[in-house]
Amino acid sequence: MYYPIYRGRRTRRTETLRRMVRETRLSPDNFIYPLFVVHGDGVRREIGAMPGVFHLSVDEIVKECRECRDLGIPSVILFGIPSQKDETGSEAWDPEGAVQKAVRAIKREIPEMVVTTDVCLCEYTSHGHCGLIREGQVLNDPTLEALARTALSHAQAGADIVAPSDMMDGRVGAIREMLDEENHQDVVVMSYAVKYASAFYGPFREAAESTPQFGDRRAYQMDPANAVEALREAALDIEEGADIIMVKPALPYLDIIAALRDRYDMPLAAYNVSGEYSMIKAGGKLGWVSQEGVMMESLISIRRAGASMILTYFAKEAARLLG
Ligand SMILES: [Zn+2]
Repeated sequence: MYYPIYRGRRTRRTETLRRMVRETRLSPDNFIYPLFVVHGDGVRREIGAMPGVFHLSVDEIVKECRECRDLGIPSVILFGIPSQKDETGSEAWDPEGAVQKAVRAIKREIPEMVVTTDVCLCEYTSHGHCGLIREGQVLNDPTLEALARTALSHAQAGADIVAPSDMMDGRVGAIREMLDEENHQDVVVMSYAVKYASAFYGPFREAAESTPQFGDRRAYQMDPANAVEALREAALDIEEGADIIMVKPALPYLDIIAALRDRYDMPLAAYNVSGEYSMIKAGGKLGWVSQEGVMMESLISIRRAGASMILTYFAKEAARLLG
C-alpha cells in the first residue's frame, strides 16, 4: 500500500468522513468525577491550585452529584477531610466520618449514582502517610487491618465501589476478605494497582491536606522508571480479587495503560491527576494553550491507550462539550 494508489488524506477530507473512521470514542460514560468532602453545612471552598475544584460539605456534594447525573456522568469518587487528624487516622473508618455521611446522603437522594470511595489513611493521619508508622517507617501488615475496616465502613454506608490507593502489599486481599465476611460480596474493588510516586500529585496534597510531615512516599509508591514492575503489581491485585485495575497518574504513563490493556482482560481505569489538570488550567489561563483543546486531546489519548474509565477533574467540563 503506497502513494499514489493509497492516499491517507482521502478519509480525512470532511468531518463526516473523519467521524466514520474514528477509532476511539469519548463519552460521559467514561468519567468518574473526584469530590472532596468536608464536615459542616453549606461549605463550598475553592482549592487554590485547582481552579473549579472545591471542598464541599455533604449537602453541596449531593448537588454536585445531581449535576453529574444530569450530564450523564455515572460515578463520583469521594475523598474525605476529617475534622481531626490523629496518629492512626481513625476517622477513616468512623461511621460518622465525612465520607460515610456523604455516601449515605448520595445513595438516599440519587440511588442510581455509582458511589466510589477512596480507601486510604493519608488524609486522616497527623503524619500524612498512607499507613501506620513506627520509628519513621510505614508498617505494611498492621496497616491492612485499618484499610479493611475503612473499606467495610464505606460499604456499610452504601458505597458501590471501594478504591484502595495506599500501595500496601496485600491490601486488596485483606479488603476482599473483610467485605465477603461481612456480607458485602457485591461491593466492587477498584485497586490503584499501579500508582507511581509522582510530582503530578502536588495540587491534590493541598486539596486533601495530606502532605507527608516527614519523608516521602517512595518506600511504597512505584518508581516512575519501572514498567515491568507495573505488570507484576497488576497481576497481584487481580489474583487478590480486584475487579477493576487502575493506573495513576495517566498522561505520563500512557505506555503502562497500553501494556495493561494488552495483557489483562480486566476493566481498566486511569487517574488523570491534579497536576495534569492544574497545568492545563494554568496554560489556558495564561493563553499559552487552548484549555478546551488540550483537555479533550488528553482525555481521548487516555481512552486510546486503553482505559475505559477516567477519573478526572475535567469530567463535568468535558461532558458538557460532549453533550
Ligand atoms: Zn494515601
